[in-house]
Amino acid sequence: MKILISNDDGYLAPGIVALADALASIADIVVVAPDSNRSGSSNALTLDRPLSAQRASNGFYFVNGTPSDCVHIALTSIMQEKPDLIVSGINQGQNMGDDTLYSGTVAAATEGYLFGIPSIAFSQVDKGWSHLEDAAKIALNMVKQGFAALPRPYLLNVNIPNLPMSDIKGIRAARLGKRHMSEPVIKAQDPHGRDIYWIGPPGKAKEAGEGTDFFVTAQGYVSVTPLQIDLTNIKQLSQLQDDFGAGEA
Ligand code: MN
Repeated sequence: MKILISNDDGYLAPGIVALADALASIADIVVVAPDSNRSGSSNALTLDRPLSAQRASNGFYFVNGTPSDCVHIALTSIMQEKPDLIVSGINQGQNMGDDTLYSGTVAAATEGYLFGIPSIAFSQVDKGWSHLEDAAKIALNMVKQGFAALPRPYLLNVNIPNLPMSDIKGIRAARLGKRHMSEPVIKAQDPHGRDIYWIGPPGKAKEAGEGTDFFVTAQGYVSVTPLQIDLTNIKQLSQLQDDFGAGEA
């Protein structure tokens, strides 16, 4: 098996090192990741400057671009053969509910999915890298077990509680929850007296009931959510079709 690994925390992040170490036991791995932390970069591709890929002493490639750039370049240029699987992470911090739209971790997996390759994003709840080896073991076990029931390609979003293995209760399929609006921007002044802004933290969980990723991870389970890319609101589409027609030729 051949696995491409990327992330959004950068190629030096402990999460990607742990994931690569774990998956190297069952697959030929290629790691292509951003040269610095690009968390929150969503699906951005860099179109206004050229990119370069360099190789670190541990064999990882690092790119001066986004997670999507990394997977894009890996699949179209660095790798001779298409990988069987693309894995992103392990992200420092959860990617649940509406986070998935902003997440570079999910975006790296999405880029693989858009190239027709099964892809999985792994994130660890809470920052700090506690129990990272355990999270990597869980990721390895999930990859080993596979997802035979799903059509190819699939796109999965996995969140792992930041707990020792002995406290993880199992894995649950979950839907995305929802968040409240983001916390306010943090306003300050630069040394020249000009206003500057730091984007504030995400909002607290809003829809976190049973069956959501927020809920199951809070109960000590790993959440796995199948994602889709089509954002069409089917119900509103039919309402608009009543007014404007359905687009037949
Ligand atoms: Mn990140």
